[in-house]
Amino acid sequence: MQINNPLEKFGLKDVACAFSRRQDGNMSLCYGDTRGALENRKRFLSAIGIDYRGLICAKQVHGKAVTYVTESNKGSGALAYDSSISDTDGFLTDKKNVPVAVLTADCLSVFVYDPKRPAVGILHAGWRGTEKNICVEAIRLMQEKFGSRPDRLLVGFGPSIRVCCCKMENDFKSNFPFGLINRDGSLYLDIALINTRQLVACGVKEGNIFDPELCTFSGNKDFFSFRKEAQGAGRMISVIMLR
Ligand SMILES: [Zn+2]
Repeated sequence: MQINNPLEKFGLKDVACAFSRRQDGNMSLCYGDTRGALENRKRFLSAIGIDYRGLICAKQVHGKAVTYVTESNKGSGALAYDSSISDTDGFLTDKKNVPVAVLTADCLSVFVYDPKRPAVGILHAGWRGTEKNICVEAIRLMQEKFGSRPDRLLVGFGPSIRVCCCKMENDFKSNFPFGLINRDGSLYLDIALINTRQLVACGVKEGNIFDPELCTFSGNKDFFSFRKEAQGAGRMISVIMLR
C-alpha cells in the first residue's frame, strides 16, 4: 500500500498528516511550475480535511529556527509565497485546526507528534538543517513550551534523497560524527540516519520513529528531486494538523 501518512502506523485519530507525491502536483508557490499550485494544494489538502486557505508555510532557509504558531498565523504563505513566515524551517503548535507545512524536493521532512499535550511539529531538514541539529532544537522547544516528554513523542519521516543517491563532493567537510559513507570512492550522506540518531540522543524511542525509506532521486517518477531536476523541480508538501 502506498504510504502518504508517516504517522499512520501509530493509529492516530486526532491528527491530519500527509506528504504529497509528484502525481499530486507541485505544491510550491515559488519554485517549479507554480501555475497549478493553489489548485493542487486545495485538492490534496481537502482530501485530509484541511482548508488550504489556512495553511502556514515558511520561507525556508536551511537553518535551525523552529517557530511556534497559533490561530493568528493561519494563512501565512497559504495564497502567496510572500506572506510565508520568514527565516524558519519548522513549526510547532498545540492549537487545533492550525495546519503547518514544509515544502521539499530531496530534503527530509520530519513530522512530530506529542499525544499527551497534544501538540504537533513539522521540520525541514536538509543536510544543512541536519548539521545545525534542527530536530534537537524542535524537541528542546517542545519540552520547554509544552512539557513534552521525548520518550512519548511519535515521529515520522517524509520522502527525501537517501544514502543510495545522496552523493557529496569528495572534499565535503561536515561535523557529522557518523552518517557519511564511503562507497566506490565517493562520499554519500545518510540524512535520515543522522536525524534518527539525533532524535534518539534527545530521548525519542527508536521504535517511535517511522521511516518509510522513500528516495526522491531514485524514485523521481513519484517525487520531485532538486538534484535530478535542478531549478525546474517542483516541491512536495508535508503537512500536519491537530483536529
Ligand atoms: Zn536513491
